[in-house]
Amino acid sequence: MERCLDSLISRRRWLSGAATIGAAGVLGLPVRGTAADAPAHKFKIGSAEVVVISDGDFTLPASFVLPGRPDAEIEGVFKKAGIAPATIKAEVNVVVIKLGSETILIDTGAGPDFMPTLGRLADRLEAAGVKPEEVTKVVFTHAHADHLWGVIDPLGGGSLFEKAQHVMTAVERDYWLQADVESRVAEPFKAMAAGTHRRLKSIADRIQTAVAGTEIVPGLAYVDTAGHTPGHVSVLLKSGSEQLLIGGDALVNAAVSFAEPAWRWGSDMDPDRAIATRIRLLDRLATEKIALTGYHLPWPGVGRVERKDGAYRFVQ
Ligand SMILES: [Zn+2]
Repeated sequence: MERCLDSLISRRRWLSGAATIGAAGVLGLPVRGTAADAPAHKFKIGSAEVVVISDGDFTLPASFVLPGRPDAEIEGVFKKAGIAPATIKAEVNVVVIKLGSETILIDTGAGPDFMPTLGRLADRLEAAGVKPEEVTKVVFTHAHADHLWGVIDPLGGGSLFEKAQHVMTAVERDYWLQADVESRVAEPFKAMAAGTHRRLKSIADRIQTAVAGTEIVPGLAYVDTAGHTPGHVSVLLKSGSEQLLIGGDALVNAAVSFAEPAWRWGSDMDPDRAIATRIRLLDRLATEKIALTGYHLPWPGVGRVERKDGAYRFVQ
């Protein structure tokens, strides 16, 4: 019933013609089959084991993510990065960190109700040897559908990760829990806001808040990267002499976010703040040579940031 209602709400808004996040499939735009039938991608940062698992992928029209930007400019920046620009492709790369006795899941994918090409995380976690009941912490960067909706157990409601502590910033939690949140967001976000509100409410009593700069567990801390959403954070892992930033949606596109970080991006809820965040973050990643995983960057989304032509590039 819950799922029916949700898809009705979404369908009604999609059919109303609004450019809506998640509308690609419904609007008949090209939606690729899943890219990541790939096995999990594993690597180490110091003594921590990092596993990247795909929840699937999706495409969005350039007119939505780069509103008003001339085609020639878009083509130019993608050509320079060697990426086809016709539609903007987004992977959904979910990170699991095994650190000491903790198994930490950073964001949870979209679950089955957001887009037909997403929602594969639960199956793939098991295939990668991570049972939901083994997850000790679920750490959210923010509460957009493709990051939060997968937390819900499709059979029973509530969290799929029954033994885990769930962590989010207070700013992010409180924003989406506002009773009138749907009326506070711009049109493209309304259906998602309603869906996120309902799901977050169902796990609200399990959420512990954390602030940027303080450790969630030893070696793992939030970094303030607000702008994409009001309480958006990235997650910094430090082990030995190595560092990895799990960026969330601070850097979402392998061409634009790095070569043109000052371009406004359509899924950023506060575009100007997101731009300032992006520029600050790129400088830090390049200067401190911190490795990066990007939730929507090309599979598996792991690489480094280098300076190039007065801006940056993502090197995988
Ligand atoms: Zn996202």
